[in-house]
Amino acid sequence: MTNEPEHFDVLIVGAGISGIGGAYHLTQQCPDRRFVILEAQEGFGGTWRTHRYPGIRSDSDLYTFGYRFKPWTGAPIATAEEITRYMGEVIDENDLDRHIRYGHTISTAEWSTPDRRWTLTAHDAANDSTVVFTADFLWMCQGYYRHSEGYTPTWPGMDNFEGTIVHPQTWPEDLEYEDKNVVVIGSGATAATLIPAMASDCAHITMLQRSPTFFITGRNANEVADMLRELEIPEEWIHEIVRRKILHDQGELTKAALEFPDLVREELLGAIREILGDDYDIDTHFNPRYRPWQQRIAFVPDGDLFEGIKAGKASVVTDEIDRFTESGIALKSGTTLDADIIVTATGFSINVLGDIAFTIDGEPLDFASTVTYRGTMFTGIPNMVWVFGYFRASWTLRADLLADFVCRLLHHMDARGSTMVTPRLRDEDQDMELRPWVEPDNFNPGYLTRSLHLLPRQGDREPWQHTQDYWTDKDQLPQADLDDGTLEYR
Ligand SMILES: Cc1cc2nc3c(=O)[nH]c(=O)nc-3n(C[C@H](O)[C@H](O)[C@H](O)COP(=O)(O)OP(=O)(O)OC[C@H]3O[C@@H](n4cnc5c(N)ncnc54)[C@H](O)[C@@H]3O)c2cc1C
Repeated sequence: MTNEPEHFDVLIVGAGISGIGGAYHLTQQCPDRRFVILEAQEGFGGTWRTHRYPGIRSDSDLYTFGYRFKPWTGAPIATAEEITRYMGEVIDENDLDRHIRYGHTISTAEWSTPDRRWTLTAHDAANDSTVVFTADFLWMCQGYYRHSEGYTPTWPGMDNFEGTIVHPQTWPEDLEYEDKNVVVIGSGATAATLIPAMASDCAHITMLQRSPTFFITGRNANEVADMLRELEIPEEWIHEIVRRKILHDQGELTKAALEFPDLVREELLGAIREILGDDYDIDTHFNPRYRPWQQRIAFVPDGDLFEGIKAGKASVVTDEIDRFTESGIALKSGTTLDADIIVTATGFSINVLGDIAFTIDGEPLDFASTVTYRGTMFTGIPNMVWVFGYFRASWTLRADLLADFVCRLLHHMDARGSTMVTPRLRDEDQDMELRPWVEPDNFNPGYLTRSLHLLPRQGDREPWQHTQDYWTDKDQLPQADLDDGTLEYR
């Protein structure tokens, strides 16, 4: 059974940090718009609701991962529970709950030019029914990866393994790992979080990596924030000052990583050497093949990962998997690792536009053949934005900037009396060189590089670039000329 379509001015997909932020900005900047958030899960939080593995925490600071409009008052690195509590406060303080429909998984989105609107169908879990919505504008805040399952490569012999294989994204609540031998495959932020959280309970935990990752370590505290709090400065000021300080320092680090990669490499490795000592083989296990910042640098608060290694509860093996055996993993070097539990911290499955089947005037959308407008709109797709945040800086910085952009665009459409806005290449852009969504030389984690063929492309000039650079966006996005001929209004 389907309902009579319900109409909204704006429809937001997803109640993660981006969707809740978008809703807040709409209420502030476009208070007259009727909007709804459709969320597949039974609650808000997105990433911070989906991931329930031991120790789950942010790897960037919450002064910048938090919204610009709501002060963060805790330690910079926060647990998933603290982040969802913060998001819950945003929802309560701004009465956003009445706009959210949980348990609504959208499966199709059809744009009709004659009707100037989107029609979406969703499965309503509570009533096990199909519901239909129409909307003038679609604000895609569905993130970038499939929430229902993570990415696990296939290795020979996996079926023979007699222990338990777990992906962090679908962590079984009743998984018992006390006194067990655990091998974690992967060395990204997830592995770096899981290992210290589990190390004291396991018999032993091993981080098995093919190649090393950069980490940055330090106290989980912000000296400027602590000092300002001692002076009883209002939290709003502290939030703004600390954000600026962190962004300034990150800007410097990013610049240094590009200009003096060897120096930055030595500094990052030096901090680890200080904990593990000169005898530890830092070069094999913690000296990556890539340049600092070509992949996200996970923050390891209080060096807990390295303290676990120093205490002998955790170890690192840098090798390649040959096959799984009944009792563990055989490595290409010839050694074996015994395991009761194998955790595949091997990343995400990128999903394109929330696994929603899009059509534009009856034609199936081939997202990969579009060119992006500022990393948020796409040629030939009317009235739609996608919030894709930063990897090098906190995701939410861009969610806030894009929300301003969307609200400005909506006002601009009103002022022009138009109901449809579509990015289109100008004559002079037709022959421009097209590049991948994210340049692999700039940023190259596995989950992105294996999915680039599914994602839109970018051009070689404004506004067709997706810079992944907060420091460029913060100046360019608020100034973007909405009448430069790249946006077609009807
Ligand atoms: C473990 C982990 C740690 C991370 N730590 C950081 C960090 O410290 N700093 C940082 O900047 N970034 C971090 N990231 C990146 C992180 O994903 C983003 O920062 C951010 O949380 C993404 O928010 P979002 O709201 O855009 O998307 P998501 O959090 O992915 O939320 C999207 C929501 O949309 C819903 N949805 C998707 N498709 C549909 C559909 N078809 N119908 C209805 N609903 C749908 C999903 O159920 C989900 O609730 C981390 C990612 C992971 C996985």
